[in-house]
Amino acid sequence: MSQTQVIKVTKDTMKKMKTYYEKNRLNRTVPYSDFVAKVGNTTITAYTSGKVVFQGPEAEKGAAKWGTPAQSKTSTSTSSSKSSSILPANFSQLSVLGSDEVGNGSYFGPVTVCAAYVDKTMVAKLKALGVRDSKELTDPQIVQLSSVIKELIPYKLLIVEPEKYNQIQPKYNAVHMKVALHNQAIHLLLNEIAPTKPEAILIDQFTPEANYRKYVRSEQNQVNEKLYFITKGEQYHVAVAAASIISRAAFLEELDKESKELGMKVPSGAGANSDKVAAAVLVKGGVALLSKYAKLHFANTEKAKKIAAK
Ligand code: MG
Repeated sequence: MSQTQVIKVTKDTMKKMKTYYEKNRLNRTVPYSDFVAKVGNTTITAYTSGKVVFQGPEAEKGAAKWGTPAQSKTSTSTSSSKSSSILPANFSQLSVLGSDEVGNGSYFGPVTVCAAYVDKTMVAKLKALGVRDSKELTDPQIVQLSSVIKELIPYKLLIVEPEKYNQIQPKYNAVHMKVALHNQAIHLLLNEIAPTKPEAILIDQFTPEANYRKYVRSEQNQVNEKLYFITKGEQYHVAVAAASIISRAAFLEELDKESKELGMKVPSGAGANSDKVAAAVLVKGGVALLSKYAKLHFANTEKAKKIAAK
């Protein structure tokens, strides 16, 4: 049984908690969080606001040590999947086609989009294999799990390498491009699994539904039926978790390839380190070389040019 307990603690208690969970800290960045820790199967996320979220079978026990719950949500289902009023009942147990993308916020590397189909008979098996939110997995785990998942279920993976991205980007904004890619991956996968039809298609939401529907109207092979949109889609169906893992593994492999070709470690993300590496690429081969590895319209390009000119 999965539980979520939320407590609010004082600065003082937060300090004590930080020390207490020191050895259980996870090397993970969650927006606005102070730290993330894992004890047994319980994940503890402490936010700078003083809110601490305990998730897992022992959530109640873990939270009780530090305070009284501000709100408690106890899920009685045996799976860790949440329910949502916008999704059909018992959603996590249906035959679902899920899609997700990775790389959109990273200066280096491609945008990868994956659609994956999980028949209801495969849901338990994938969960048992550890298919879950890729943010809870290490990079090597993601790459390893991805190759296992690919053997077990039908999927379509689309990879837009930077060179291609830089050609498309002036015409398609980032959201439009993602819509086109999700739609195309879903369309191709539906063709592949036909005559089997999923009971629902769940897209890990990256834009309001109306926006998605607007952009999809300009696509050739439009998929419009049985579509559901929800953020953190991987928590609602393992198909989105599988799609997320496959697209992340592909992104990581491409970054690795870029690093090898360039002879320097290419970072994920779009921080100061990306500027530095981009500057080194500029020195090596100018914008022509950089355009093969990075998304040029990011602000990182101008910063890199300044560094390279020094
Ligand atoms: Mg996503």
